[in-house]
Amino acid sequence: MRLPVPPVSGMDLEVIAVGTELLRGHTIDTNTAELAATLGEVGISVARCTTVADDQSQIESTLKDALRRTGLVVLTGGLGPTPDDVTREAVAEVFGVELAVDEEHLERLKSWFADRSGRAMPHSNAKQCEVPLGAELLSNQQGSAPGIWMKGEDGIAILLPGVPHEMKHILHAQVIPRLRDRLLTSDGYVAVSKSLTLRTTAVSESLLADLLAGVESDIAPVTLSYLPTVFGVELCLTALRMPPENAVQVLAAAESTLRERIGKWVYGTGDDDLAAVLLDRLRDRGARLAVAESCTGGLVGARITSVPGSSDVFKGSLVAYDDSVKISQLGVAESSIREYGAVSEEVVLEMAEGVSRRLETDAAIAVTGIAGPSGGSPEKPVGTVYLAAVLNGQTMTSRKIFPGEREWVRNRSAQDALALLWELALR
Ligand code: AMP
Ligand code: MG
Repeated sequence: MRLPVPPVSGMDLEVIAVGTELLRGHTIDTNTAELAATLGEVGISVARCTTVADDQSQIESTLKDALRRTGLVVLTGGLGPTPDDVTREAVAEVFGVELAVDEEHLERLKSWFADRSGRAMPHSNAKQCEVPLGAELLSNQQGSAPGIWMKGEDGIAILLPGVPHEMKHILHAQVIPRLRDRLLTSDGYVAVSKSLTLRTTAVSESLLADLLAGVESDIAPVTLSYLPTVFGVELCLTALRMPPENAVQVLAAAESTLRERIGKWVYGTGDDDLAAVLLDRLRDRGARLAVAESCTGGLVGARITSVPGSSDVFKGSLVAYDDSVKISQLGVAESSIREYGAVSEEVVLEMAEGVSRRLETDAAIAVTGIAGPSGGSPEKPVGTVYLAAVLNGQTMTSRKIFPGEREWVRNRSAQDALALLWELALR
């Protein structure tokens, strides 16, 4: 793949997430993920992220190191009004300046409180008006802590609040536009990084890797990462720091190279949902769908009905948990359960055929399995799941052994059940 314009060097920065709650596992650090994704879109790479406690000396030493490496650092958290929030103090110290009250912001904050609550601003909020001398404020329409843009000899520190929606708002409204200006190349374009995700299901990460062996050199400069999730393996293609039209072009070429090798496992791209993809396929064929579920207890039905417009394809589902329900409602033979067990290929197929007959549909899905943690045996360990799909008289069954905990097994079963009918509908 030849590029008309070579990749530009772009810009690296570091992220420091400040908050003792992050280190304790009390709060999940979503801000770093948001920053990395948003900055990546404009061609800025997060070279390193560090999480530190609300501890002034830790913040100071981490910031000094980060500035030395990249000269550009985003900090989130520690801008609140309480004594445990000390990011401003640490930044002022590192840049060798005093903190001073920004009178204009203080007045704004006082009237913000008066307008919203009709009460005077609590004294603690005055702390949020203190700014390292020489810094610029980044206004926050969604909360009381403004962002801060601090520039000094050692580089730039951008301080954003910890509250995720406030952080996101200032990032998009103020930080990205300023950084984009700094990224304009001599050719007058802003380099971008773009990603494209191919979603696969019912295939292991290692099998995909075997099938794609050596593909990295064919798709360069696009890079490939494998991201396994409960819904399957996502193949994420990334084009780093290019003119926008080049990024689109090289990603499209890489996508078709991958599809040539593993296309049969790819059910969608981006945020595509397998249930929605399956419903579209059945709708095209004019088929109606019924579901019979044991160990998933309604998860397959929930996946299907969460897709808007599912009602023209989906007729209904039966949660047949107890053997007596499998027999009385789905017409599963008592002898099949006795002979093969409720978790067996014979029973799952009878469940699918039974629900399709009962609800008068051309298509059906059935699931039965042992989600655990108890109930396993040497022949059928915990995680053993049988799946069946029926479409216009054609049938497919599948046996899986999913490792993991109960919820993981149940969610993987629902996904693979949808995948089985999708595969049958592709024929
Ligand atoms: P702070 O700006 O430190 O006062 O943070 C306010 C709140 O934002 C905290 O109580 C957390 O609930 C949340 N928060 C702080 N940092 C993060 C982060 N990195 N990711 C997600 N939430 C955060
Ligand atoms: Mg905090």
